[in-house]
Amino acid sequence: MPNDDFEIKTISSDVNTHQFILEAHNDDLKCAGENSKKSRGKLPKIKILGTGGTIASKGACSSHTAGYHVDLTIQELLDAIPDISRICEIEYEQLCNVDSKEIDESALYSIYKGIADALQTFDGIVITHGTDTLAETTFFVDSCIDSGDVPIVFVGSMRPSTSISADGPMNLYQAICIAADKQSRGRGVLVSLNDQISAGYYSTKTNANTLDSFNVRQGYLGNFVNNEIHYYYPPVKPVVCHKFKLKMSPDVTSFTFPTVHILYAHQSFSPSLIDLVAKQCDGIVIATMGAGSLPDIVNDKCLHVGIPVVYSKRSMDGMVPRANLPKPLPEKEYNVIASGYLNPEKSRILLRLCLAEKHSISEIKEVFSGVYGG
Ligand code: ASP
Repeated sequence: MPNDDFEIKTISSDVNTHQFILEAHNDDLKCAGENSKKSRGKLPKIKILGTGGTIASKGACSSHTAGYHVDLTIQELLDAIPDISRICEIEYEQLCNVDSKEIDESALYSIYKGIADALQTFDGIVITHGTDTLAETTFFVDSCIDSGDVPIVFVGSMRPSTSISADGPMNLYQAICIAADKQSRGRGVLVSLNDQISAGYYSTKTNANTLDSFNVRQGYLGNFVNNEIHYYYPPVKPVVCHKFKLKMSPDVTSFTFPTVHILYAHQSFSPSLIDLVAKQCDGIVIATMGAGSLPDIVNDKCLHVGIPVVYSKRSMDGMVPRANLPKPLPEKEYNVIASGYLNPEKSRILLRLCLAEKHSISEIKEVFSGVYGG
C-alpha cells in the first residue's frame, strides 16, 4: 500500500529547558521521499518474526470476532500495511503459525533463537504473537535475553484480519515503527497494542475480548498517535528482571524445562490436590485466594510436599509478601516461596527457569525477592 504523506516523529521533552521539542524520527526519514541510495543504506534494519495469533487469523465473515482460525502468513500480514520502505529495511521469517494457546517449549525455542540470531545484525525486532499467552512469552524473553539497545517489540490483535475495523494492520504498522525508532532503544522487550506501548515484563492480558485487552498497572511507557511516537519516560528496563543465561547444545530444537503446574485455590480447596499434583511435577504455583491465603490444612501440606511451592494470587493486581507465607519453623528452610508481584503464569516461568538452573530453595527465594517476593 503506498503511503507518501507522513513522517514519523518522536516527541521528547528537552530536560534542560523543560520545553517540548519536535524531532523528526531521524534525518534519513525527513528526506526519505528522495530515497537516495546513501540515505536508504542508513535506514534501520528490522527483523519481523511471525508466530500466528488472531492477527494472522481469518473468520467466516466480517462481523465474526470469534470462531476464527490462523490462516495468514507473515508475508500476507505485511502486505496489508502501508509501505514502510522509507522507515526501515525489513526481513521477515515465519517461525510458526499457531494460536498462542499452542505455544510450547519448541515454539518458545524458535522464538528465542529467532530473536538471539536477529540481535546480531538487526536494529530492531518485531514478533507477531497471539494475545492470549503473549505476556508469558514476553516475560520469558525478557528473563532470558539481554537485548542491549535493540528493541524487541511484540504485537498481536484482538480482531481477526477479516473483521470490520480489524486492529491487526495498524498494530503491526505501529510495532514496526516503534522497533525502528531510535527512542525505543535501551527499553528491552516492549508490547505494542491498541496504540499503547508497554513493558513486556509487566504486561498482562486483562480483558478476553476488547481491543483494550492489556492493562499495565506499572504504567504504559508511551503512546502512538497519528505517526507520532510519544515516550513518557527516558529508556528504562524493569529493575526486578532476573536474567538467566540458558545453556543449550547446538543440536537442540526445543527447550526441556522442569515441569511446574499451577493450582487455582478456592473455598474448600482440597489439600489432597497438592499431593496429587506433586507426583507429576518438579514445582507448584498456587493462585492463592488473597495475598497468599490458603486454608491452614493446605498450608501444612505445602510445607511438607518436598518440592518448591510458589504462593501467587488470584487477584489481578497487588502482590504476595513474604510475611504472608505459612510460618516456617526456624530450624528448617522451607520450600514455600512468595511470588511478590508475579501472577501465577509468570511465577511458573520464573520457577521453571530457576529449576532448570538447579537453584536451591534459598537461591530460588533470592530470585523471587527481585520481584519483592521470596
Ligand atoms: N486466540 C488468540 C491467540 O492466539 C487470541 C489473540 O491472538 O488475540 O492467542
